[in-house]
Amino acid sequence: MNLVLLGPPGAGKGTQAKRLAARFGIPQVSTGDILRQAVKDGTELGKQAGPIMAAGKLVPDDLVVSIVKDRLLQPDAAKGFILDGFPRTIPQAEKLEQAMAAHRKKLDAVISLEVPIETLVERISGRRSCPRDGSVYHVVQNPPRREGFCDLCGASLVQREDDKPQSVRTRMQAYEASTAPLKEFYGRRSLLRAVDGVGAPEAIEAAVVAVLKAREVSPGA
Ligand code: AMP
Repeated sequence: MNLVLLGPPGAGKGTQAKRLAARFGIPQVSTGDILRQAVKDGTELGKQAGPIMAAGKLVPDDLVVSIVKDRLLQPDAAKGFILDGFPRTIPQAEKLEQAMAAHRKKLDAVISLEVPIETLVERISGRRSCPRDGSVYHVVQNPPRREGFCDLCGASLVQREDDKPQSVRTRMQAYEASTAPLKEFYGRRSLLRAVDGVGAPEAIEAAVVAVLKAREVSPGA
């Protein structure tokens, strides 16, 4: 099963991608996570992408497309994958389509997580993450057991640089200008399925699974 999760910053793409990946036994491919790791590792890619990400802007298409192409060729992605945060522009979506067609593959569905703007802002401003293992918390909705520290590894939690207000505004604008048009792109291909992204993560996951069942998308298909 080859899936894309689409939605603005704070829609819960990462949370749902992790849950669905565990449920279906296929990898979550998050370009944001891959880029953050590159920044942390100080690689050439990280040096290029870091300042762009901190400002909340989109990294150039060529960079992210080549990351995704490489990642999808890894053996664990052979039976399917969940793309989280990619594609984010029409050219990225076109390149993905071409790359998959070259391997006689196609997307099974694009899930659009629909969340009102006030909820997005609330989620993003309270989001804290573990710099060591990537666990994500929310100060109100999903607090760690000990305030400020990761439940799993004990590291001090941080706020993502791009979750600060100025960057969030830029990210929302980038979403509206460059990513929202993908809904029409995938709508035309009859792949788009909108899911209400407000509520408990389990309930949203169940709604996504129901949509996939209705479309008769099954793992290995
Ligand atoms: P995310 O974790 O998905 O919110 O991504 C964090 C940041 O990484 C974004 O604000 C962009 O700067 C960059 N990024 C991630 N995925 C992409 C993409 N598909 N295209 C361009 N930039 C991306």
